[in-house]
Amino acid sequence: MSSEFRNTVRANLAKPEVRANFYRAMDGLMTRRLDQFPDKVELERLRTQSMAIRANALSKLPELLETLEANLTRNGIQVHWAETTDQANQIVLSILQKHNAKSIIKGKSMVSEEMGMNHFLEALGVECLESDLGEFIIQLDGETPSHIIMPAIHKNRIQIAKLFHEKFPDIPYTEDVDELTQTARRILRDKFYAAPVGLSGVNFMVAETGTLCLVENEGNGRMSTTAPSVHIAVTGIEKVVESLLDVPPLLSILTRSATGQPITTYFNMISGPRKPGEKDGPEEVHLVLLDNGRSNIYSDPELLATLRCIRCGACINHCPVYVRIGGHSYGTVYPGPIGSILEPQKAGVDVHGELAQASTLCGACSEVCPVRIPIPSILNRLRYDGVRKDTANTNTVGSGKRRTLSEAATWKTWAWAATHPTIYHAGSTLATHFKGMLPTNLGAWTTVRSAPKLAESTLHQQVKHLGVDHE
Ligand code: SF4
Repeated sequence: MSSEFRNTVRANLAKPEVRANFYRAMDGLMTRRLDQFPDKVELERLRTQSMAIRANALSKLPELLETLEANLTRNGIQVHWAETTDQANQIVLSILQKHNAKSIIKGKSMVSEEMGMNHFLEALGVECLESDLGEFIIQLDGETPSHIIMPAIHKNRIQIAKLFHEKFPDIPYTEDVDELTQTARRILRDKFYAAPVGLSGVNFMVAETGTLCLVENEGNGRMSTTAPSVHIAVTGIEKVVESLLDVPPLLSILTRSATGQPITTYFNMISGPRKPGEKDGPEEVHLVLLDNGRSNIYSDPELLATLRCIRCGACINHCPVYVRIGGHSYGTVYPGPIGSILEPQKAGVDVHGELAQASTLCGACSEVCPVRIPIPSILNRLRYDGVRKDTANTNTVGSGKRRTLSEAATWKTWAWAATHPTIYHAGSTLATHFKGMLPTNLGAWTTVRSAPKLAESTLHQQVKHLGVDHE
């Protein structure tokens, strides 16, 4: 693992308050999810149905995207395609410039995080204000999200109270959650009306009807998409589903898996800009569809399952690694198990392949994934891609670049010895004989574990001693 990743993990492990915040939050989320699925049979049926819906959509992705574009356009929504995050940022910028907009109010959008949109626009003098409470909090503190559903989950009430007091000294100090929420609400209220452009993510895009579905709890998504005169939605190309009937099962399993709610407070279905005679809604709606490596993932039959993800965060909530090291340790937009399979595929296994190593492969993530993504198998595949020799047989970016000569030589030597019985016997007998001289310091492995000890005699010697024939 890179020293940068290792150092970040070490630094975060040394913050007891942050670790306690994660433990408390993840414990609560796991319990709430469990309470939502008292009937295990129903849960498994819903998981199978949701997996089938997403797999069906992906199997027809190119044609569904064409249908989606045609129906969105018919509904008056302007569709833009972006192959890279740079292109997506330029598209957003051109819409802002067309409207001479100097500020933007945002609902929650992980894809805009993926684009680094705030930094891009702010460098050009455009104010980007996050309106989701969690995003608002981390924006105040100059941080990035540590979770895909709850961006400020690493902070507790007192830390947030102190932050508000530091940033808004005129407002009396309080640790009351309701009062803190009201403060944020008051600050944001006028911004919704003043901002010329609102931006949001999308949870599902319905090809059949040309509808954008948005799941949220705070009403800020609805405000961001209706109060400003222009609404820009940004999302990945994989978020499409075939028909409106696909949405209820996905919505049901998404909210229950994510936050343990039977349904969220708001569910928005955006089908176009304001029509003549209507009293509210934006005059223009744009959808930016981002690829950013997704087509490449789509081209691999094994890795394709990654794109089934509905971003519920359940895998993150149940990951024993995430709960200890926290979201910021990953150093990527998407943390936890989903990040560990998505980020190495987007950026390359040479860039983020170490995330696939940072897993115990316990399988808790795939046990809870509502769309049954086989995360441990994909982690294994990415580990293999990182060191594979036959790089021509895979599309994984950076394939083979994690291969080191010393590791390759070690395994080659092992394979050679294991397939030559005489050598293997001689080696194991010698090692057993001189076991006292074997090193007890095996680098990183023995910093937290004891070095493995060799037995008093080899397996062959033991079976012989036991009188087993035909060993
Ligand atoms: S991989 Fe599965 S559990 Fe994790 S965020 Fe995606 S859908 Fe949810």
